[in-house]
Parts: sequence; C-alpha cells; structure tokens
Amino acid sequence: MQRTTGKLLATQGYVLGIEISGSGSRQSVALADLNGKILHRVRRPLEYVPDTGTVLRLLDDMLNEVMHPEQLHDGRILRAGVAVGGLVDTARGMVRTLHHAHGWDNFPLQDHFEQRLDVPCIIDNNANAAALAEVAYGAAVGERVALYVGLGRGIGGGLVVNGKIYHGMTCTAGEIGHMLVKENGPKCSCGGYGHLEAIASAQAISRAMIGLSIEYPETEAAIGRVTEGRAERITAEQVFRLAAEGDKIAQRIVDDVQTSLGIALANIVHLINPGVIILGGQVAQAGALLIQPLQTRIHELCLPAASEDLRIVQSSFGIEANTVGAITLALQDI
Ligand SMILES: [Zn+2]
Repeated sequence: MQRTTGKLLATQGYVLGIEISGSGSRQSVALADLNGKILHRVRRPLEYVPDTGTVLRLLDDMLNEVMHPEQLHDGRILRAGVAVGGLVDTARGMVRTLHHAHGWDNFPLQDHFEQRLDVPCIIDNNANAAALAEVAYGAAVGERVALYVGLGRGIGGGLVVNGKIYHGMTCTAGEIGHMLVKENGPKCSCGGYGHLEAIASAQAISRAMIGLSIEYPETEAAIGRVTEGRAERITAEQVFRLAAEGDKIAQRIVDDVQTSLGIALANIVHLINPGVIILGGQVAQAGALLIQPLQTRIHELCLPAASEDLRIVQSSFGIEANTVGAITLALQDI
C-alpha cells in the first residue's frame, strides 16, 4: 500500500536531505524528487570547527537557497531527512553528541528543523542513513543484512536488517569506530586507546603518514610531490597509492589499516553474518587498493561458512553517501 501511495505522490512534491558532519564543518543541503533524484545541492565546507549557532545559521541560508520558489514548481516539500555525524537518539529526535565538535550534546535537532521547515523531519546517524541508502538504491539493493562502514574523518557503521536500520537499545549500534583492535594503540577521539578509528580513519592515516615521514626524507619528498608542497593535505587515498608505488612508510601505515579493519570486520561478520559490507568515506576512495587485500584478510580470519558468500564493495555514492542517506531517511515509507 505504501508503495502505491509513493507512486501516487511521485509527481507532487519534494524532500530535503540535510547533512551535518561529525565536526560540524561540512554541511550539505539537497533537494530531491520523490524517486530520490537530487535536483539541487548546496555545500559550504568550512576550514574550522564552527559552533552550533554558526552551523545552524549556515544551514538556514543553504535551505533558503535550495527551497527557492523557482525550484519548487512541482509541489511542496513533504519531509526532511537529516544525517548527523554523531550519536543520535532517534526516538527523541535529538543529537546526543557530535564526535568532533562541542555544543551539540542533547540538542533537539528534529524539533529545530520541524519548526524551521514546517514539515515532518527524520534524523539519524550518518552511517545509518548511508546504509539505508545503499540498500534502497545503491550497492546493497535486495540485501537482507547489510553493513555500511563510513571511513571518514571518524569511523561509523550502519546496519540494515530486512530493510530497517538496526539501532540497538540506546541508538549506539554500529559505533564500530570504537572497537578495540590494538592494545595500547594510538589515542582515539573518544579518549580511549587502540580503537579502530584511531588507526583506520582518514584523519588517522594522514596524521600517521605526516608524523612518520619526519624521519624518512624519501617519504617526505614523496608527500611533497603528491600534495604539491602542502603535506598537511595528504589524503588517505594518496597514502594508499604511495604504498602501491613502493613507499615503505606508506606500506607500513596501510598494513596497519588493513590489519585493524580486518580484525574489526571479521569479528562483526561472525556476529551478524552480513551479505555485503559497503565501504564509504574518504578512505574508501582508495578503491581496490583497500578492498582487495581486505577481502583476502577477512576470508582468512572468518569461518568459511560465514564469509564465503560475503561481498565487500565500495559505496555507490562515494562522498555523496551521507547526502543520499539523508534523502533516503526523508523518503522512508512515503
Ligand atoms: Zn574511540
């Protein structure tokens, strides 16, 4: 019945997808039709971690731009979805905390946008949203158990079972960035040590590369070459490429990343037995350089019965995954 209703409405309105990153410095707002097609998108990344007020004012401007009457000739906005890079209490519509910014604790974000937009609004964690998007439109269509792993500045996971996001008892299911993968390992954003995020996130990879290169002039020169002299801008994808080209330091870092991701994912596979693991975020831009060795490792670490049919794939939406996720949240059950 709901599908029929969806088709009936398909020419009569729009949804909004709103994304707030874990640091609050990367937001996007997108207008989509009821098939999930993005019609207009605005993105205004900042170079610093802004306070809550700044983020909300910026989003307000972006909403004004996207909802310009010229864009809305086909009807009105029906619903908004918000994908947030932090812990979200979906039952109460609140941000519990952002992982890389202050001032968001217990923030009533759903109420904020419902008042601003005067439409129903659904908020969720960005990895959960991206997981739902992959199952609805992307690399995991038709999968009954799908895990999305967002390897961005932080690491988040989203689990979709039988078409629904699995939230757990207090909405923290999927927080795989804080799984312990290396005893006495590097410090994590949460204050713990040896967590997956402290080794395999985009930020951890770039930091390790810059930190270790200080003692290795060849590596330092290679970083300078690929970043045109701006070493601080080295990306995880560039580290993977330098490793493939034979740089010993990059290889050491990539090996650490593969080891820790392999441990975390093999443990998850034994618990939930997914049909597909989708890798997204900046680190996943490394593509086959990341995925092929990881696939081998996971098969080595898992019971054959648990992993023989498991697919490990790159996100269909690349760096758009969270935006598409926000739109998918808005389109749920329409
Ligand atoms: Zn942690």
